[in-house]
Amino acid sequence: MKFTNSEKLHQEALQHIVGGVNSPSRSYKAVGGGSPVYMKRGQGAYFWDVDDNKYIDYLAAYGPIITGHAHPHIAKAIAEAATTGVLYGTPTELENTFAKMLKEAMPSLEKVRFNNSGTEAVMTTIRVARAYTNRTKIIKFAGCYHGHFDAVLVEAGSGPSTLGTPDSAGVPASSAAEVITVPFNDLNAFKQALHRWEGEIAAVLVEPIVGNFGIVEPFEGFLQEVNELTHRAGALVIYDEVITAFRFTYGSAQQIYNIEPDLTAMGKIIGGGLPIGAYGGRKDIMEQVAPLGPAYQAGTMSGNPASMAAGIACLEVLQEDGVYEELERLGKRLEEGILEKAEEFGIHITINRLCGALTVYFGVDKVTNYSEADASDGEAFATFFQLMLNEGINLAPSKYEAWFLTTEHTDSDIENTIDAAGRAFAKMAEK
Ligand code: PMP
Repeated sequence: MKFTNSEKLHQEALQHIVGGVNSPSRSYKAVGGGSPVYMKRGQGAYFWDVDDNKYIDYLAAYGPIITGHAHPHIAKAIAEAATTGVLYGTPTELENTFAKMLKEAMPSLEKVRFNNSGTEAVMTTIRVARAYTNRTKIIKFAGCYHGHFDAVLVEAGSGPSTLGTPDSAGVPASSAAEVITVPFNDLNAFKQALHRWEGEIAAVLVEPIVGNFGIVEPFEGFLQEVNELTHRAGALVIYDEVITAFRFTYGSAQQIYNIEPDLTAMGKIIGGGLPIGAYGGRKDIMEQVAPLGPAYQAGTMSGNPASMAAGIACLEVLQEDGVYEELERLGKRLEEGILEKAEEFGIHITINRLCGALTVYFGVDKVTNYSEADASDGEAFATFFQLMLNEGINLAPSKYEAWFLTTEHTDSDIENTIDAAGRAFAKMAEK
């Protein structure tokens, strides 16, 4: 495959855009460097780049594109919004419609507020929890990424880990000192943290199913215990469902584990591909937010008609019968097929998968927390990534990220991907 035009665009981008990319995870730094591929068109499960190479896409824009690129129902909603005005600065009926849809999906959301990114959503849940509890400290789990604001850039998973900057420069030590990090799936460490900081913890921030050091499920009972212990300590439970909302089932992770967090942050899928964030939860807590309460949060673009229309349309597609069953069926086949090929060529991998999302880790037997994900073989992943790219399979350029299936992937896409992985493994085995 030739990438000449991508390379040209990257050289140009380097002159104007810092690092050539508008989000560091798009750089190919962790997979051998060089120019990222510049896409020019997405349709369904496919991408075409500026050199006219075609790819099966498993990046899904880091999660949001669950219905594939340019889904006609969502495209129509966006086109309609474009002709009636994309930004009013006034309330619209669409916001009510969408808020009701979210509440129906997740009963813990007694009140919601829309904003523009996952970062904003999580950031505000922390502010609201601090306002409600009159405490300041937050417990988070190592390797979990919750956005790029100061409070959570501490042992923060995929992007920062890939770049080797788990703590960002520019984050005041005083801000990081408010965050306690414990390993995911480690109840003892969690209990110790609650005990050590008794009376000071405002909230525990949880990715109920981790998506940021690959797909990692909680041990049985882990989330229930975290919920109970946190409440006993007088703190709030915040679920960061930015990746998990509507990803594995319509009711999201909180439905899978039958747990109601106090607050939930969302993003990605709920925007149907347009910028969005949302947070919500218990009414008495949400009423801390301005204009009702003293916790301030605002946004010029928040709840804009285009994002609302795209989000509503996306959820309408996800309400269709059999969507998640089909993602599970295809995901299962993809996992089994890749494992078979790895075994055939003697490549040591483990796959974590839930429904239509999976992560292939090289050189490790299991991944249940960040240090196990971190121990996976980044060089082997980088080689695999490049080989797959040349096979026309577009993956996220990091060993910590997930592959995401969409409603548009077909059996033949999955079989082609398995065959491509087989050829990639064969080459890796030759070395
Ligand atoms: N929380 C989680 C779990 C995420 O995965 C992300 C983004 N990858 C964020 C928050 C931040 O979302 P955004 O990039 O929309 O600000």
